[in-house]
Amino acid sequence: MIIVIDGPAGSGKSSTAKAVADKLDIQYLDSGALYRTLTLIYLESGKDKTKFFELLNQKSISFYYTDGAFNVSIGKQNITDHLRTVEVSEHVSTVAAMLKSREHVNRLMRKAVQQGAWIAEGRDLGTAVFPDAELKFFMVADLDTRAERRYKELKAKGTDITKDEVKKRILERDRKDSQRKSDPLRKADDAIKVDTSEMTFEQQVNFICSKITDKFQRLLKY
Ligand code: C5P
Repeated sequence: MIIVIDGPAGSGKSSTAKAVADKLDIQYLDSGALYRTLTLIYLESGKDKTKFFELLNQKSISFYYTDGAFNVSIGKQNITDHLRTVEVSEHVSTVAAMLKSREHVNRLMRKAVQQGAWIAEGRDLGTAVFPDAELKFFMVADLDTRAERRYKELKAKGTDITKDEVKKRILERDRKDSQRKSDPLRKADDAIKVDTSEMTFEQQVNFICSKITDKFQRLLKY
């Protein structure tokens, strides 16, 4: 069983999906982290596309969720702490726009969710990767709210950056993600839209959990 949440950067997908996974005791999958992992390999290749895909085919990527953290390893090395640097964030949309990258990440995800119950978050999960997902959400929030959230996250990690710079980068990433040819960021027709601009974190989590429990109670009745 798979439930998906798509939406732009800073809309609250990750924190909400993790809290829902913890509350309902299901597994969590962060597709952005997988694109970030590929970006680390792309940077290792010296941004050479041919070398990048050669390296990618040689490496095995694995992941698991525990204690609120989505962990990713390349081979035996856990690289989770390297995924959210400014350098990776700057290049991830370029890597994610490559069709072969998307095919690689999609294969990893589809294989993982074959067993168990999952909540996954990303940009194209409801439209391209899991069009038959049991339940789909599309989270949005206004730009100022999203920039403020990302700014706080980066500051907490000690990154030296201004709020205006964060806003500029989010806008640029939104533009690339929604205009690319391969599986752009888009709301699936059957996704439930959740605008989190005016919602507290608790309200977001409760809203999604209630939709999930309603749906499965209805399914159990029939
Ligand atoms: O969610 P996060 O900000 O970590 O995602 C990083 C990037 O990965 C996005 O900006 C987007 O370019 C790419 N991505 C994607 N499709 C997904 C998830 C993420 O293209 N399903």
